[in-house]
Amino acid sequence: MKHDITLIPGDGVGPEVTDAAVRAVEATGLQVRWETVHMGQATQDTMGTPLPESALASIRKNRTALKGPVTTPVGSGFRSANVALRKALDLYACVRPCKTYPGVPSPFEGVDLVIIRENTEDLYSGIEFQEGTPEAAEAIDLVRRTRGEVLGRDSGLSIKAISETASRRIVRFAFEYARAHRRRKVTAVHKANILKFSDGLFLAVARDVAGQYPDIEFEDRLADNMNMQLVRQPGQFDVVVAPNLYGDLLSDLCAGLVGGLGVAPGANFGEGIAVFEAVHGSAPRHAGRNKVNPMAMMLSAALMLRHLGEPDRADRLERAVAEVIADGRQVTYDIKRGGAGPAAGTSEVAKAVAERVRHLEPA
Ligand code: NAD
Repeated sequence: MKHDITLIPGDGVGPEVTDAAVRAVEATGLQVRWETVHMGQATQDTMGTPLPESALASIRKNRTALKGPVTTPVGSGFRSANVALRKALDLYACVRPCKTYPGVPSPFEGVDLVIIRENTEDLYSGIEFQEGTPEAAEAIDLVRRTRGEVLGRDSGLSIKAISETASRRIVRFAFEYARAHRRRKVTAVHKANILKFSDGLFLAVARDVAGQYPDIEFEDRLADNMNMQLVRQPGQFDVVVAPNLYGDLLSDLCAGLVGGLGVAPGANFGEGIAVFEAVHGSAPRHAGRNKVNPMAMMLSAALMLRHLGEPDRADRLERAVAEVIADGRQVTYDIKRGGAGPAAGTSEVAKAVAERVRHLEPA
């Protein structure tokens, strides 16, 4: 069967790592018709928008996309094209598996947890009031009138909205994921002690949903404590579900626990639609230098293969990455161990993984 997949090369190092992932997927023998579309800084410069309708239409049609990272300038320019993409396609669940592969320099061994991040609301709703504007003044007046709290007139405001509907949907997703992947426990992360009406709602819903899954253990952790527990004893966690902001921060932290962004894959799911992308960004200073690690993107492609109902090809791709890491010769600077020769470039890693995939027997 031939699969139609949307391919988004992205900005910065995106084209290099997506090219490596495409080579790895093709080495599994999967028949693919790639439909390449663009978004991000590239289309902002050429088409005046970071998220052209052509990109959205392609993903809506093919239902599956492999996406490179795109650049979002900090504090100015366009709003995040990633946030806009997730909103437009209602990609409400971001899944980020964090696993230690033997041979990756990391302070821990045997970490195998999955962060499930709510993707559509919280502080990422994009509803903000810039300081000094009439809208900000109105919002500040509303707070004074309704809450009796006086905010500085020179404040900028960002809305943190957490709904019961989105919380229920993401926590259910986490429990269903745990069941489908034979995982034993779900941990919900929040700051309900301080944020009673947003995180408090998330926690109440999480407890309610947990009651419907008696076969899976449930616990909750305050976000600050969670950070400390993760860096001390990551092995105690299995599936972690969190609102958008904590999920974002935790997934980078967990990527750090297992060897860094170079080996941290991810996927975004909506109803019948999925976009696979690494956790890392476009690393602009490394763009075009054949330097960064393509494995995060390749492992994202392995998640994609699993999603497409190709578990054997997914296993071979993941095993090939694991073997190249364990071998230690053809790996990039970020996971190079001392004494194992000079670091390889992106394209050498791509070649080494693709060759291994071809030689691995189907299970
Ligand atoms: P980044 O992930 O691009 O880089 C952070 C650090 O990690 C850098 O030191 C970089 O060299 C290193 N790194 C990143 N990917 C690596 C890889 N594959 N192999 C080895 N090292 C790697 O994060 P940033 O610098 O904060 O962001 C750069 C741009 O990317 C920003 O515009 C940001 O908005 C965007 N971004 C996009 C996405 C996405 O499209 N999904 C995600 C995160 C950041």
